[in-house]
Amino acid sequence: MTTNLLDFDLDALAAFCEQLGEKRFRATQLFRWIHQRGATDFDQMTDLAKSLRSKLAGSAQVKGLKVLSRHDSFDGTVKWLFDVGAGDVIETVFIPESDRGTLCISSQAGCAVGCRFCSTGHQGFSRNLSTAEIIAQLWFAEHFLRAHLGRSERVISNVVMMGMGEPLQNYAQLLPALRIMLDDHAYGLSRRRVTVSTSGVVPMIDRLGQDCPVALAVSLHAPEDALRDNLVPLNRKYPIAELLQACARYQAFAPRDFITFEYCMLDGVNDQPEHARQLVALMRQHAVDGLACKFNLIPFNPFPASGLTRSPVPQVLAFAKVLLDAGMVTTVRKTRGDDIDAACGQLAGDVQDRTGVQERMASQRQGMLAGIRVVLAPESPA
Ligand code: SAH
Ligand code: SF4
Repeated sequence: MTTNLLDFDLDALAAFCEQLGEKRFRATQLFRWIHQRGATDFDQMTDLAKSLRSKLAGSAQVKGLKVLSRHDSFDGTVKWLFDVGAGDVIETVFIPESDRGTLCISSQAGCAVGCRFCSTGHQGFSRNLSTAEIIAQLWFAEHFLRAHLGRSERVISNVVMMGMGEPLQNYAQLLPALRIMLDDHAYGLSRRRVTVSTSGVVPMIDRLGQDCPVALAVSLHAPEDALRDNLVPLNRKYPIAELLQACARYQAFAPRDFITFEYCMLDGVNDQPEHARQLVALMRQHAVDGLACKFNLIPFNPFPASGLTRSPVPQVLAFAKVLLDAGMVTTVRKTRGDDIDAACGQLAGDVQDRTGVQERMASQRQGMLAGIRVVLAPESPA
């Protein structure tokens, strides 16, 4: 079986080159060809000796993902579905904004955490993605977009691990992918422009802080344990106090960074002013440990099996006001319009014809990743 070079960060690629009897620095050239130039054919890599190119051709490949479908939204958002085999489909979304281009990446096919408000959670866990499958989403999207938009410079400036899956339950495969994102010989993204979003896998938050302290987003969704146990079942294992202590420890590795707390607004469940007040008290309590945070309120994207509904806008604004009045930096994510929702329907139809996994795709959350932010933050962060 040939080795997929997308599985390797620079150190692993250097070790692979050494196995082939080559000097380590050759790996840097190879790495740049793959990630900076998007090359797949070793013969293109003209500054590598012919002998190395033929050794590579015999033992390795650069293998991307199989594109199932692509949808372009009117506002420049691009969403891909990739077929990762055995009926598993993952999604990747590019969200352009005036000052950045963000790619939302999946880390698993399905998810084992089983949050009540998440369609991926309802779908259950299928498998972890490999490092190659994680980084191939960025590799493909970056080079596709450059060609598509006629740009020679970088298009994707930010990555968020907010697609399908719980990234910190796939840590071994995630870490090399993060290292490739940050490597100057590959994508050269700054630490603060790569965000890992987690439902709260406490030991892995500590590992991430030590290994690769990128920006951290924590899906909180509730101010107290009984409610969070119900919404995010992982809370029974790692309750809120432990989670927030881990967040405070994380900040020692990521100085001057805020941790973003995501809070999905569910009508009548977690969106009352009382919940906001509890949240303020909770954060004040943990600020003593040095926790600095901001809130991102996410309007719920409903799907029938959840039995939940989206909070009305005035409810979201009232909630945000309580946080803002307490001096907390708070943003509300604005969901995309009907364009994306309609598109999701079409995509599900496409998939139905071609792979028969329409039920899963129809239940995928709709357009939630394509959020833009309305900043309601006070002028100076608390
Ligand atoms: N598993 C990780 C990352 C993927 S989910 C995590 O939970 O953080 C990315 C974000 O989407 C999380 O904040 C999650 O709570 C949110 N989300 C999931 N389902 C949603 C839905 N139906 N509507 C709005 N946000 C949702
Ligand atoms: Fe998994 Fe995140 Fe969905 Fe929860 S919200 S089920 S952790 S993907």
